[in-house]
Amino acid sequence: MNAVVDTKAEDKVAYENNKLHKRLCRLVGQAIGDFNMIEDGDKVMVCLSGGKDSYALLDILMTLRERAPINFEIVAVNLDQKQPNFPADVLPAYLEKLGVPFHIENQDTYSIVKRLIPEGKTTCSLCSRLRRGILYRVADELGCNKIALGHHRDDILETFFLNMFFGGKIKGMPAKLVSDDGKHMVIRPLAYVKEEDTERYAAVKNFPIIPCDLCGSQENLQRKQIKAMLREWEKKHPGRVENTFSALSTVVPSHLMDRELFGFTDLKTDGIANPLGDIAFDEEPCSTPAPSTIPLVNLQ
Ligand code: SF4
Repeated sequence: MNAVVDTKAEDKVAYENNKLHKRLCRLVGQAIGDFNMIEDGDKVMVCLSGGKDSYALLDILMTLRERAPINFEIVAVNLDQKQPNFPADVLPAYLEKLGVPFHIENQDTYSIVKRLIPEGKTTCSLCSRLRRGILYRVADELGCNKIALGHHRDDILETFFLNMFFGGKIKGMPAKLVSDDGKHMVIRPLAYVKEEDTERYAAVKNFPIIPCDLCGSQENLQRKQIKAMLREWEKKHPGRVENTFSALSTVVPSHLMDRELFGFTDLKTDGIANPLGDIAFDEEPCSTPAPSTIPLVNLQ
């Protein structure tokens, strides 16, 4: 009897894991398609930190490459920043077993950061600036025209709220954008993937996770607050996080106040009814039909 119960439980776990893998492939494939992230002949440098997200990114991209109707190459790259106790053998052993071309770049940015930043001050901005420059150079050396990063949906949302709450800007994290040196295309194929899914996937696949606190830097307090806010919303207000995320791809510039984005100063009436025009005192409908289907009431 127990053996039957165990088999049923195992089947259920296998079913759920398979569903998770399929969902990740679907969402990553969708993001790649929506933003035209990867094209025929691309050489994609997948940045691998040793954290759950970048492992998931590499794994799913490798699956999708097998099925894709186009040809593209993948090179996994890890930057060994010489942080104390970094287990330098973990990633090469994993990548060799996986059979993916890889490169480990050894650069002691840890010592540079320690030397230049006074004790107790935040080291992340210099550290990530150094890392960015190194990764751009490595992409050039490896002949990679795309750089894939493991940021997921929740990273994008956190960045959006960080910029809004603490930076006074409506600005998220792009799914695809040319790098700040103008030379590289940076892509984030996990843009539609929830963090809880990469967490679960990492556990299912038993990725050899390398802890991310080896540098001794404290986690950004503001990001921590935003993360906690989003987690609470997930629990108490189902659907709110999803709606906020989909709002990022449904922007109405005429209803914001950025004069660069919309030509408010040169605006003229043209006598043509426009469902996206101002609706005076009416409440903005939350989940009513699309504006074009709502008739404009003629009061005359
Ligand atoms: S947490 Fe550490 S390794 Fe990461 S960016 Fe900050 S200083 Fe660098």
